[in-house]
Amino acid sequence: MDAGTPNKEGTPNKEVVTYEVRGSVAKVTLNRPEYRNAQNSKMTYALDAAFTRAVNDDDIKVIVLAGAGDHFCAGHDIGTPERDIHESFERKAVIWWDHVGKAGVDARFARESEVYLGMCRRWREIPKPMIAMVQGACIAGGLMLAWCCDFIVASDDAFFADPVVRMGIPGVEYFAHPWVMNPRAAKEFLYTGSRFSAQRMYELGMVNHVVPRAELEATVFALADRIAEMPRLGLALAKKAVNQAEDLMGQRAGMDSVFGLHHAAHAHNAEVAGDSLAGLDARAMAAAGKKAAEATEGTA
Ligand code: ZN
Repeated sequence: MDAGTPNKEGTPNKEVVTYEVRGSVAKVTLNRPEYRNAQNSKMTYALDAAFTRAVNDDDIKVIVLAGAGDHFCAGHDIGTPERDIHESFERKAVIWWDHVGKAGVDARFARESEVYLGMCRRWREIPKPMIAMVQGACIAGGLMLAWCCDFIVASDDAFFADPVVRMGIPGVEYFAHPWVMNPRAAKEFLYTGSRFSAQRMYELGMVNHVVPRAELEATVFALADRIAEMPRLGLALAKKAVNQAEDLMGQRAGMDSVFGLHHAAHAHNAEVAGDSLAGLDARAMAAAGKKAAEATEGTA
């Protein structure tokens, strides 16, 4: 969890999240670059621990969420050797029974309520400003991580996509799409599964700044340092004020209703295809994601 933890590619016991302090800013970094920072549960709970550490440190004013390597995050881990969906972790986000040892919706709803929707909601309520620093791919579950931050600064090679409609699923679990862009853009985004560029997302209001890749980190930290000059409580209350306004615009209730549709889709897939991901083999999806990601490399 400390800064400078060497990244040994392919070593299962390496730190999957690193934590670094720069002045008043905590930099929390997704650290599975060999898998484009695919998010397994181990990473989820390591993120939660890192955010908790930042919240508890009175000297930290702002949190930056970053991804090591060429890509911010390729999404939830559906195909790496360290996929851990059948493991138990101490639950943090919701009071519900463990998914392990359960079947069907009983398992799926318990797990996704905790590690996906619940965790993202928990992190959205962190009382310190959070900036997502996004380069390269930000796909599906990666969107959830960027969206639960207060805003996004992206490099000009960044791209965003939620292709899960291909699985018959109406978007990722933390369904912020219509609020972070607009309903018609959200429909195109979902219906096509296409990549939207950082520039397009900037135009839609989902991304706050787009900068050249070489300037991304300096831009984010300059912004974070400027925010850090504000009083801590003022920032916390301003964040809560805007979050409350978003919820009054229906975000929270909307996500709850869509979570039910999401689980209807998983259940349909399991019933019809025998697989909650619609028979889309995890390795095939991972290979498709890898191919898509590789196609963009070298464009920075
Ligand atoms: Zn799901």
